[in-house]
Amino acid sequence: MDLTEKEIIEKLESGEIKIFEIEKYTDTANQATDIRRKFIERQTGVELNHISKYSIDMTETAKKNIENPIGTIQVPVGVAGPITIHNEEETIETYVPLATTEGALLASVNRGCSVIRRSDGCNVSILSNQMTRSPVIKTKNTIDANKLKKWINDNFNEIKKVAESTTSHGKLLKIDPIAIVGRFVYPRFVYETGDSMGMNMVTIATEEALKLIEKENDIQVLALSGNFCVDKKAAAVNLIEGRGKSVVAEVIVPKEVVEKTLKTTTEAIVEVNYAKNLVGSAISGSYGYNAHFANMVAAIFLATGQDPAHVVEGSLGITTAENDNGDLYFSVTLPDLPVATVGGGTRLETATESLNLLGAKGSNKVERYASIVGGIVLAGELSLIGALAAGHLAKAHKQLGR
Ligand code: NAP
Repeated sequence: MDLTEKEIIEKLESGEIKIFEIEKYTDTANQATDIRRKFIERQTGVELNHISKYSIDMTETAKKNIENPIGTIQVPVGVAGPITIHNEEETIETYVPLATTEGALLASVNRGCSVIRRSDGCNVSILSNQMTRSPVIKTKNTIDANKLKKWINDNFNEIKKVAESTTSHGKLLKIDPIAIVGRFVYPRFVYETGDSMGMNMVTIATEEALKLIEKENDIQVLALSGNFCVDKKAAAVNLIEGRGKSVVAEVIVPKEVVEKTLKTTTEAIVEVNYAKNLVGSAISGSYGYNAHFANMVAAIFLATGQDPAHVVEGSLGITTAENDNGDLYFSVTLPDLPVATVGGGTRLETATESLNLLGAKGSNKVERYASIVGGIVLAGELSLIGALAAGHLAKAHKQLGR
């Protein structure tokens, strides 16, 4: 049926066409997006002059990344750096795009990058690449629950074969831990997912594996995700076992650089880190033994098309600071970074540009990308703890009348 824009809007108003059906009546997804927005403007009386401006092609986006699109949200993006990062494969020297609305964040991260450059760069290790899915299975009683755990362990190879039949890149590494509560069983499926973040991949693979488990056991799968995965929640299991890419970044900052650039001392930074990030986090029951990982994680995730809800997982982790013969040893450990250089939102045009800027778009790039995330979190953390320590020192100087 050929309808004009005006006719489509009239049919939307009368309820003949639903807002998710507009694409059926237009030649392109971008036309459908504009019509949907105009309909919403008429319905609400609110002008969406900025949401209406975008350059991305909605064709693929509306298929893979969003339903009922009406435009885009613009978040300012800036750069910090260059930052120098050594990982096991290469030395990376790059500017880093960060999208945020928090004033002073870029300036602070940039200062951290400068400290890292003056310290001959930071080291980053990728400890693991493992995405998880943990269904909840109901058994008749706890004896059956324990039997199921044993069956899963005994039949791992067969389960692995079935799970991996759904993907050419995913590898089922283990099903561990398998938690039992009453008669519920929570097997945590752990997959290596290559350059993808892997949530869709492991969900599809686990669903297939569950068909086999259900066929061979008298059980009931209650939900494909039983919250022991744990997706998009802050959780101890992710902190301990790791999820996504687990990353550690470290730097040794010479005493003179601490004093000149951070305008404080190694001792003050070590003390602030101990009292704030370790003891302060312990008394709050926090899983984030750090000052603000989430700031840098959110900004680089937004710029590069990662799933923004995973910032909650990226906020987990520990910052350490030690006095190394007067120099400052400083590290950040991020056990839970669900990141990708293929799939998900990384295909969006703006994300592609940001990933290209980092030299981290596509296959065989996820370790480079994860290293950059580790490095930029280190820079931001170092700068903020340094600033806090400098404030603490300044106050101390004032109080002591020096
Ligand atoms: P995806 O875009 O669905 O799939 C990525 C696919 O790319 C892989 O499955 C793989 O296909 C293929 N691929 C091509 N080159 C690859 C390479 N070098 N390394 C790895 N894979 C490669 O993305 P996803 O990473 O599985 O999932 C990300 C999406 O899931 C995001 O959009 C996120 O928002 C969403 N998400 C889903 C859930 C959920 O419960 N389903 C939860 C949270 C987030 P093969 O498998 O055929 O090898």
